Amino acid sequence: MKISATFDSGAIEVVRLDDPTDIRLRLRKDNAADFHQWFHFRLMGAAGKPVHMVFENAGTAAYPGGWRDYRCVASYDRQNWFRIAATRFENGELIVDHTPAHDSVYYAYFEPYSHERHLDLVARVEQSPFARVRNLGSTVEGRDLDLVEVGQDAPGRVPIWIIARQHPGETMAEWFVEGLLERLLDGADPVARKVREQALLHIVPNMNPDGAVRGNLRTNAAGRNLNREWRAPDAVASPEVFLVRAEMERTDCALFLDIHGDEALPYVFFSTAEEVPGFTAEAAAAQARFVETLRAVSPDFQTEEGYKPGRFGEELLTLASKWVANHFGCVSLTLEMPFKDNAILPDAQVGWNGARSKRLGAAMLDPILRHLGDGGDPARGA
Ligand code: ZN
Repeated sequence: MKISATFDSGAIEVVRLDDPTDIRLRLRKDNAADFHQWFHFRLMGAAGKPVHMVFENAGTAAYPGGWRDYRCVASYDRQNWFRIAATRFENGELIVDHTPAHDSVYYAYFEPYSHERHLDLVARVEQSPFARVRNLGSTVEGRDLDLVEVGQDAPGRVPIWIIARQHPGETMAEWFVEGLLERLLDGADPVARKVREQALLHIVPNMNPDGAVRGNLRTNAAGRNLNREWRAPDAVASPEVFLVRAEMERTDCALFLDIHGDEALPYVFFSTAEEVPGFTAEAAAAQARFVETLRAVSPDFQTEEGYKPGRFGEELLTLASKWVANHFGCVSLTLEMPFKDNAILPDAQVGWNGARSKRLGAAMLDPILRHLGDGGDPARGA
């Protein structure tokens, strides 16, 4: 048997591999921070063998609550990912029992989204007559920070910003953007067409490509949690936020969506802006219309379950969507999707996955169009 993780977004530590009925593993920390929860590795030479894998340090992971009712994902062909029912969390350890059908099998925390797929997405989008791809600068490790622009840069266009994957282990966020872009660039889709006619969209499919390639859960190559950098981004340690924030200041922002995944909650939900200082009644009304429109078009989305008030405490305005709500006074939302399954529409075979994230991304165009129909954002002063 062999376990390897020296590939795009690979991450695991092997403690013992001499007995397939007692494989001992440890979740690897982010490269420059203590967060650990993401894993992605290949097991070879175990076809037909009942494999018992123990992740010894799951109890000290960033979100231990993420293991309750969690099911590990696996794939033989790296295209189709399925859930392993025999996954459980006991005494601080994550335990996965599986009998691989083939000698080569991949296991991961969630369906991966590779850097090659990211580059393919950006290249494909760049071929569209409706989109332009711009380089905003470089990440800590010198990767391109790609910005996709859709719509004409003309007077009266409503500036909309959508960013994803500040937390690199939240791969569902880039699956979401792929689905959103595919619909947005569809010449036959009437909703996409109206959005393209009224708005100028600025979309960052991956805010943290360094962390993504390294297999980090939560930080960039310099160990920064990008979604705590928005009040004072650092040109050297968090250039990803520094560059995007500067471009937002240049273009203005009338609607902001920050796309994430939540380890613990088995629901699709928004983190809204009521707690942000200066959040007006008009902004609250526009936010309510946006949220209700998504609920009407996507049965995967709900508003009953989500974060409790006060979750972010003193850090509130260091978060992207809260800083934007405060600074630009517009509707500004964090979308969270589950790592587990969606409890209101479960699928035992795949749980929440890339395909479902893509459908949600496509559905998001409906509330965006409704928002534009409301005249952009009424909260913004005349
Ligand atoms: Zn996140």
